[in-house]
Amino acid sequence: MKVTFLGTGTSQGVPVIACDCNVCCSTNKHDKRLRSSVMIETHGINISIDCGPDFRTQMLRENVKHLEAIVFTHEHKDHIGGLDDIRSFNYISGKPMDVYAESRVQDTIKNEFSYAFAKVKYPGVPEIMLHTIDENPFFIQNIPVTPIRLMHYKLPILGFRIGNFAYLTDIKTISTEEKKKLIGCTHLAVSGLRHQTHLSHFTLKEAIGLIHEIKPAYGYITHISHQAGLHSELNETLPPGINIAFDGLSFELDEPQLKS
Ligand SMILES: [Zn+2]
Ligand SMILES: [Zn+2]
Ligand SMILES: [Zn+2]
Repeated sequence: MKVTFLGTGTSQGVPVIACDCNVCCSTNKHDKRLRSSVMIETHGINISIDCGPDFRTQMLRENVKHLEAIVFTHEHKDHIGGLDDIRSFNYISGKPMDVYAESRVQDTIKNEFSYAFAKVKYPGVPEIMLHTIDENPFFIQNIPVTPIRLMHYKLPILGFRIGNFAYLTDIKTISTEEKKKLIGCTHLAVSGLRHQTHLSHFTLKEAIGLIHEIKPAYGYITHISHQAGLHSELNETLPPGINIAFDGLSFELDEPQLKS
């Protein structure tokens, strides 16, 4: 199984439009952060967790030739905004994209992309096959996926575990019960926005705290704001085994066991 960070930036991305801070002006490619999502390649299929406004650029950059499913963590625009661009994959596969989301998230998708759900569709609109999920385990084809309930301020959202990789973005709190689903993860990605406290997001310190509790072999921090500082300086300050993710970072781990 291979995991690739498609984007590692917070909702505005980095650089932020019209910002002259040292991070936004940095020439280091690791300080260029598209909106957050990850792609998982497993058992011959590609799964994207979220599909933000930079989806098209990310698919082109990673030279993705097929995508079998998209799983949504929640309905905020930085996580769903690129859904129109699945059309290219519709043309290649000749079928609708399998999209997994909670009912509330589906309602927003149907609103924001109403033309894709019209009774009489204009030719060429994105073809979407919605699958309803909740906090119970489900399968994408025969690959087991474990949702993990997170709170994003007052919004209940989902993180996901596939095999020994777990991806928790836009997290502010997680219950003790849900943490148990992370036991045994070898690779754990957690969002950590910046140093300063935020209403709906973990700070870097809070993200590191959760990674320390779970003790994966590798921890990654994502969904990063320009306010977090320069990638090179920030990465130096992290404890061993934890890294600030960057766009295009990938790693491999054991394939998950398939449904028998
Ligand atoms: Zn977000
Ligand atoms: Zn800036
Ligand atoms: Zn959000």
